[in-house]
Amino acid sequence: MDVRSPFVVDLASLPRQEGASIEWERTLDAPADLGTELIGVPEGSPLQVRLTLQSVSEGVYIGGSVAAHVVGECARCVRRFEYDVDEAVGELAFYPERRLALIEEGDEEAEEFPVIEDGHVDVEPVLRDAIVLSLPFTPLCEPDCQGLCSGCGKRWEELPDDHFHPLPTNDDDPLAALEAKLRGDMEQ
Ligand SMILES: [Zn+2]
Ligand SMILES: [Zn+2]
Repeated sequence: MDVRSPFVVDLASLPRQEGASIEWERTLDAPADLGTELIGVPEGSPLQVRLTLQSVSEGVYIGGSVAAHVVGECARCVRRFEYDVDEAVGELAFYPERRLALIEEGDEEAEEFPVIEDGHVDVEPVLRDAIVLSLPFTPLCEPDCQGLCSGCGKRWEELPDDHFHPLPTNDDDPLAALEAKLRGDMEQ
């Protein structure tokens, strides 16, 4: 853990007595890759973090919220869209000896649990989970986005209801139909 990271909270002022708590509020620059390929929080844009860190028997409970501005690209029509999120945060960071005890008891997931190191806890993974898990798997500009016309690449929303691209067949071409008829008449 890099204690100089702006996401690392110094717990020196938090008594280890159960129920004791500190408030931690910061506006931080969003880290890189906060999202998926199509949607996420742009790197460097503000993350408003409001946390309460509370001593519990196993460690420190990190509760509160994180607000950010999300920018996405519609998976159907590639239109850019954006909105604000304000997500609840709630995760337990374990004292190292408590986490070790869980690992020794055979809890396979315990290795992934947040842990307190040298009186510090890194809240970046906790905030990252809160935001990334809230993002849609398939981002859409509107819930019923119809995507793009395969004929011209325009958004269906912007095209008239009867928009279509005729296929060039004889059936659709009056001149070709007339020619076919004349040919038929001559053969008779
Ligand atoms: Zn769309
Ligand atoms: Zn079209």
